[in-house]
Amino acid sequence: MPTPAVMWFRQDLRLADNAALKAAAEAGPLVCVYVLDDATPGGWAWGAASRWWLHNSLVRLAEGLARFNVPLVLRRGPADKVIAEILHETGAASLHFTRDYAPWSGALEQRVKTIATEAGAACHRYGGFLLHEPEAIRTGQGQPYKVFTPFSRACFALGDPRPPRPAHKNLKAWEGRIKGDKLEDWRLLPRRPDWSTGFAIWTPGEQGARQRIETFIDDALSDYAEGRDRPDLARTSRLSPHLHWGEISPVQCWTAIRSAMAAAHGRLDRQGEKFLSELLWRDFSYHLLHHWPDLPSTAFQEKFAAFPWRHDPKALRVWQRGETGYPIVDAGLRELWATGYMHNRVRMIAASFLIKDLLIDWRQGETWFWDTLVDADIANNAASWQWVAGSGADAAPYFRIFNPVLQGEKFDPEGDYVRKWCPELRDLPNAVIHRPWEHEAGVKGYPARIVDHAAARHRALLALKSLS
Ligand SMILES: Cc1cc2nc3c(=O)[nH]c(=O)nc-3n(C[C@H](O)[C@H](O)[C@H](O)COP(=O)(O)OP(=O)(O)OC[C@H]3O[C@@H](n4cnc5c(N)ncnc54)[C@H](O)[C@@H]3O)c2cc1C
Repeated sequence: MPTPAVMWFRQDLRLADNAALKAAAEAGPLVCVYVLDDATPGGWAWGAASRWWLHNSLVRLAEGLARFNVPLVLRRGPADKVIAEILHETGAASLHFTRDYAPWSGALEQRVKTIATEAGAACHRYGGFLLHEPEAIRTGQGQPYKVFTPFSRACFALGDPRPPRPAHKNLKAWEGRIKGDKLEDWRLLPRRPDWSTGFAIWTPGEQGARQRIETFIDDALSDYAEGRDRPDLARTSRLSPHLHWGEISPVQCWTAIRSAMAAAHGRLDRQGEKFLSELLWRDFSYHLLHHWPDLPSTAFQEKFAAFPWRHDPKALRVWQRGETGYPIVDAGLRELWATGYMHNRVRMIAASFLIKDLLIDWRQGETWFWDTLVDADIANNAASWQWVAGSGADAAPYFRIFNPVLQGEKFDPEGDYVRKWCPELRDLPNAVIHRPWEHEAGVKGYPARIVDHAAARHRALLALKSLS
């Protein structure tokens, strides 16, 4: 029996454009494995919404591999220990995996390399999760970037990435026997209660990702640059969970958008460039995380270490439940709870409200998002929360405080988004939909404002002043 090659799937749950899988398939008959590791990430083990997505994505990946009669072996435990066992049990000659950038991953990958070498297996690590490796983009002085615009300019200057690799025509399984867990036994799906009914809007998996980008290009790309800020319109791609789990590579997305731009002979250039630059924001978050691994837990700007956050679990709970009395904030948090997603503009408004109107530490919001978002992502989440808090590398200044009423009126002008998620407000006229306290007849069943925004703004600015 020929010695196998082990393919360790991580956040690259796809068959197409997967350099690690391609190399493994060329190196020998395949042993494909996914390891559920709740130990190594410590407090950053997958949250509840991520676990829902992971379950469904693994089902799809296993089906994709099954078309070639290749089983997906599921194992649970610290990844280095599990990989050591797999190499020992199979006598594999090589191990292949896609690189990951979480703060604990560098050390984990190093340990795995040592284990593989000791087991006599060649260890190969590949890129593919990002458009550009974090070390590859440097300022003229050889330093990492802290500001997005020159970072993206440097990336665009490199030209388009290599074209995606075509899907496999054939994969061959190792003939030996190897045991794995049953996916159901991992209990990744919620049971009592099952809060995931609203997640039916998603189709996790490689095919779902492909459909998502095709639909986006057909229906929304032509209005992306303007429409992307409107939560009442479906003008963004909703590719974030698919990208997070690697069901589609950023290179596949980039190439698909470039092809659409070329086919439109210039008509989609501005829209397409805007989308490509959003993909670069994702790379930028990882660039920051790679060079500043404390990003998820520590303010990038040191002076924010002394910020006088309020400890107010009751207010945090009100925010989490979407009962602040500010419709756009509440609509966003309710959308998040129901679907595992919140529109980007509303994420900014809701985050600003927690940090600045309630003076609650951004890390509390980051943790809530980690548990509830289907696209919860260690780099994007941390970089975005720090951006809103004003403590990040290339952050919005702290003194720029979102007014939730004006933001609502600007980006949800007819109130459709608010009416969808706050049905108590359904019958309000547009003029007061974002300021229901001004409705003369009052509103039954909708909470009063937890703070007065003008007073809260003043308090936030005083808190900021205390830092200088
Ligand atoms: C407080 C806060 C927390 C966030 N947490 C996350 C998170 O955990 N995971 C996550 O993927 N994004 C996060 N974002 C960024 C952004 O909101 C989402 O990526 C976006 O809403 C996803 O929707 P979409 O796929 O339709 O985006 P599109 O507008 O279609 O953008 C295409 C892709 O570009 C990337 N992208 C877009 N905007 C950003 C951004 N600001 N930063 C980094 N990448 C971006 C995403 O991968 C996205 O799928 C957060 C933003 C804020 C303000």
